[in-house]
Amino acid sequence: MIRAWFRLSLWKRVLLALVLGLVAGIALGEDAVSIKWIGDLFIRSIKMLVVPLIFFSLISGITAVGDIGRLGRVGGRALLIFMATALIAVSLGMTLAAIVQPGAHLSIELPVGSVVPSAPDQSLVAMIISLVPDNPIMAMAQGSILPVILFSVLLGIAILASGEEGAPLVKAMQAGSVVMQNMTILVMELTPFGVFALIAWVVGTFGFDALVPLAKLVALNYVGCAIILAIIYPLILRLVARLPVLDFYRGIIDAQAVAFSTASSNAALPVTLRCVERNLGVSNAVASFTVALGATINMNGTAMYLGVIALFGAQAYGTELNWMSYALIALTSTLGAIGAAGVPGSGLVMMSLVLSSIGVPLETIAFVAGINHILDMARTMTNVTGDAVVAVAVGRLAGELDVDEYVSADDI
Ligand code: ASP
Repeated sequence: MIRAWFRLSLWKRVLLALVLGLVAGIALGEDAVSIKWIGDLFIRSIKMLVVPLIFFSLISGITAVGDIGRLGRVGGRALLIFMATALIAVSLGMTLAAIVQPGAHLSIELPVGSVVPSAPDQSLVAMIISLVPDNPIMAMAQGSILPVILFSVLLGIAILASGEEGAPLVKAMQAGSVVMQNMTILVMELTPFGVFALIAWVVGTFGFDALVPLAKLVALNYVGCAIILAIIYPLILRLVARLPVLDFYRGIIDAQAVAFSTASSNAALPVTLRCVERNLGVSNAVASFTVALGATINMNGTAMYLGVIALFGAQAYGTELNWMSYALIALTSTLGAIGAAGVPGSGLVMMSLVLSSIGVPLETIAFVAGINHILDMARTMTNVTGDAVVAVAVGRLAGELDVDEYVSADDI
């Protein structure tokens, strides 16, 4: 029995767990909360990896790229695809919401028990300032990912610039990165159990009833994510990377399952990195760099969602929108998607930035809060898949992707 379990490749075990979790959730109903601790245990153990993994991966990725000019080309391409896909995603969200009008004819009432997240200080200047850690160790201890990224990128560049004298650190960072990846393999064995418990809990707690009043909105978000996953990403894979699409999806399914069940790009990060390197054949340098960066700043599902909800709020409250408002939604949603941390619910918090820029009441947030988790699962899966797409595209363009590995059926 145990041997049969381990003989099954991990993604099959995860998929099985997902289906069993769904069944258990329906069977147990609200009692499913009693097994949620297994999911929490899984999330904690995977989150434990995030800060050291980002630190070592980014630095070893940067030093492995070798010289600053080449780093600029890899980084520049990655950032370009991050921005372009985010803009496409918001436009898609706005178009869908404009066609379907999920907020029209809704008499808004706040759902019982919903909590309005307090609007954080989201001015642009505050956002930029908070990127720079005044104490990198504290930023790591608090798990503030963007400042940790900035510090790691600068440290990586400084090590590169130090040439021979920096060489021992290059080795040390690469060793750290390999060790963290091996630690990831250990923790990933928990994935099926974590996914099972979390899916059972979500289905048991939220049930299908919670979805009915906002069914249109939920459906629209899922359709938006499906369009990104089934059309936009495949187009990038075919046109930019010139690679087959199905192999990509087979290689990335573990990361998608973890993203979907945890609603956290950070929690999925170790798994994404592993899938991109091991199953999709992207070099360690490009994978470490793009995936570690992408998990925090590349969020197409979130950008699409922000576009949908902005229009939803405007429709529900009868706020007039003009071309300027649409441009503002596109801009603030892209910034919101970059600024959102890869943790559950952070997209909801970014909503205040978008809504206040176009004068839609912030109460919209409370309205959406009740169904946020269900939406979060799909958009996080879309976000994480996008990180892998960018890693593959950049790896292919830079000649750092092993095509045999990409198309081979062997996986972890
Ligand atoms: N939970 C999402 C993520 O981690 C962010 C969001 O809330 O939109 O990717």
